[in-house]
Amino acid sequence: MSVIDLRRLTSTARQQALRVVLIGPPGAGKGTQAATLKERYGLAHISTGDMLREEVRRQSPLGSQAKALMAAGKLVPDVLILQMMAQRFQQPDVSRGFLLDGFPRSRAQGEALVAMLAAHNQPLHTVVQLDLQDEEIVRRLCLRRSCPACGRVYHLQSNPPAQAGLCDADGSALVHREDDNEATIRTRLAVFHEQTEPVIEYFRSIGLLQRVDASRPIAHVEHLVERMVQGALTRTSPLRSSRRLTISKFRSLGRAARG
Ligand SMILES: [Zn+2]
Repeated sequence: MSVIDLRRLTSTARQQALRVVLIGPPGAGKGTQAATLKERYGLAHISTGDMLREEVRRQSPLGSQAKALMAAGKLVPDVLILQMMAQRFQQPDVSRGFLLDGFPRSRAQGEALVAMLAAHNQPLHTVVQLDLQDEEIVRRLCLRRSCPACGRVYHLQSNPPAQAGLCDADGSALVHREDDNEATIRTRLAVFHEQTEPVIEYFRSIGLLQRVDASRPIAHVEHLVERMVQGALTRTSPLRSSRRLTISKFRSLGRAARG
């Protein structure tokens, strides 16, 4: 392979569309990390929470089913979420790479996602788990405010907006989400432990999971996430997979020769 070929392949790797899942309990900072990754890699940010809230706002049939469940801190059934996601994946913006936030939330959703992406020959590069203790989550969420327009998330103590009550990006009035009160948070955490931990275990078992301690300062977590994502992209670059292909080709040739 010539030097020029190599250079072309490495530059392709740099522009490669990143496909990543951010997973973790509510309040672990998924929204904040998602905003950073989205900007850096030009990704479509697919947040099932935001999509569902939009359905509720539009009073669609899905929205009205989802509304009562969400207000109680419960999960929307897999079949509804998967229908919504199958439609979302048909939008053209997903071809430049995407970040999934709040999906998959159960092992069934995780397996369906992996199968769907494999069918489109667009496997995930990595799954980043933001890990945080329940007590720290409760403390964080009660002081959380978010922007209904752009989805940016603030924290009254650790990450307040420049102007009280207003989004830094677009000046919208920040809201305290209905599901960010302590009783609902406890229910959401119980649901997380019961439903979402098995999908984390699933991603670990297929070698896609990387874990980050989300109790560290935001900038540090950002740095760790960036390194993990970059590492995953490099490991699966076309250069590397073509090398792997060559090795497996050699092996099969060797087997053929021995047989
Ligand atoms: Zn905003």
